[in-house]
Amino acid sequence: MSKIVILGAGISGHVAAAHLRRKLSKEHEVLVVSPNSNYQWIPSNIWVGIGRMKSDQILFPLAPLYKKKNISFKQALVTTFHPEGDAETKSAYVKIKYVTGEEKGKIENITYDYLINATGPKLAFDMTEGLNPGTNKAYSVCTYSHAEHAWHALDDLIQQMKQGKKAKILIGTGHAKSTCQGAAFEYILNVEQELRRHNVRDQAEVIWIANEFQLGDFGMDGVLLSYGDNIMKSSEMVEMVFEDRGIKWILGAGVNKIEDGIAHYETLDGEYKSETYDFAMLIPAFSGHGFKAFDKNNEDITEKLFKGFMLVDADYTAKPYEEWSVQDWPETYQNPSYKNIFAPGIAFAPPHAISKPRVSKNGTSISPAPPRTGMPSGITAKLVADNIIDTINGKKGLHHKGSLGNMGAACIASAGYGMTKGSGVSITTYPIVPDYNKYPDTQGRKLGKTFGEIGLAGHWLKLALHYAFIYKAKMKPFWWLIPE
Ligand SMILES: Cc1cc2nc3c(=O)[nH]c(=O)nc-3n(C[C@H](O)[C@H](O)[C@H](O)COP(=O)(O)OP(=O)(O)OC[C@H]3O[C@@H](n4cnc5c(N)ncnc54)[C@H](O)[C@@H]3O)c2cc1C
Repeated sequence: MSKIVILGAGISGHVAAAHLRRKLSKEHEVLVVSPNSNYQWIPSNIWVGIGRMKSDQILFPLAPLYKKKNISFKQALVTTFHPEGDAETKSAYVKIKYVTGEEKGKIENITYDYLINATGPKLAFDMTEGLNPGTNKAYSVCTYSHAEHAWHALDDLIQQMKQGKKAKILIGTGHAKSTCQGAAFEYILNVEQELRRHNVRDQAEVIWIANEFQLGDFGMDGVLLSYGDNIMKSSEMVEMVFEDRGIKWILGAGVNKIEDGIAHYETLDGEYKSETYDFAMLIPAFSGHGFKAFDKNNEDITEKLFKGFMLVDADYTAKPYEEWSVQDWPETYQNPSYKNIFAPGIAFAPPHAISKPRVSKNGTSISPAPPRTGMPSGITAKLVADNIIDTINGKKGLHHKGSLGNMGAACIASAGYGMTKGSGVSITTYPIVPDYNKYPDTQGRKLGKTFGEIGLAGHWLKLALHYAFIYKAKMKPFWWLIPE
């Protein structure tokens, strides 16, 4: 009998738990440890943030589902890792802290045979002074409660605009090293559309602010894409979309301080500037959770497990940006020191930036971190689950592999809500990490599989994905037929 402990019940943790439970017999235990009582389909937070969906449409409680499916669940936070056990407990374990109910604050050691760290990122608002969702007129859509809060503030502003107020709306990245530009891009398009719907668009200045050197970088160094019969750069496509909608932009901006209605930022030219606003949605930096690890003698071995995020089978050798290659990216998400520990989804440490690192004249690094999207989070979680299942069944070696260098990502930015009123701007990229050997003439990406589209179809697709993934996450009949 094996015990598999999964830390986190986001996209990757939940996918791993579902596949493990479906494929392993009942004698094996699958245990999920996560602080939130709910599963949330994060991509639909965008619609919560414009008041077009309620959070209960994008979440459901985990405990009843896990009980029904025979998955154990502890509503708790992992605090420390003990991959060798200790003098008393010879078995590997993690220390967890309960976050709710009568057990709140209680610490417990949870032993495991296999550990899946699917704790995603820490939303590091604290890395930008004054950036704290709901204060200083700055909001976030990274969680459903943040997104609800953002909508209430935006709605309030829209009502004031209806009384004649002129307003400035600032959306983008809230730190010099933020990632997730795709989510901010989607939100700005939705907000702009919502202002039109309420007939207040003329009273608003809508501004994109980002650490990107060029529009459409998305932490992937931009892409060359097919657009109908044409080939264009993502920068050109995003510029076209923004021009069309009257959205202004500020690029190469490392936001470093937020005051009430003022975003301070440094530019790549080394200038210190600021932008005022009445409503802002700024994506924070994503960092590791700062977990510590200890060996059997209680010596600190954090550097064997973590480099911010968790170390896996990537090539982390320090090299100049130009020398990195797609082969540096991990394929099995297995920790090199402890072979029974895996980190799919956002939890693994990327080996390098995809966007060219850029430093301001003052030495501040201002460029996007690699994108950490949902589809690869699900795919990497499933392959980790499949490798664990094979190992339990006596198979030697890890046969399920997948790198961000041979996986695609789709940024489907719905703009507006409704079957006929919505629209979508879709940018599909393959592969996520450019492969300059395979695709030397098209900036490392396969044209045709890397394409852009504007129109209602993108919106429908996003809406269809919402319902399909909620269905899948609820483990309804034949859920496994829906791909990650
Ligand atoms: C607003 C928004 C829109 C997005 N839209 C898209 C999109 O359209 N398409 C797309 O592909 N991707 C999108 N993404 C990205 C996508 O949501 C992420 O790639 C995905 O959620 C990553 O999954 P994950 O499981 O690795 O991490 P997460 O989903 O962040 O899950 C991490 C889990 O770990 C838990 N956890 C945290 N700390 C601990 C701890 N100490 N102990 C135990 N558990 C812990 C958390 O509570 C959570 O359950 C979007 C992201 C945002 C913020």
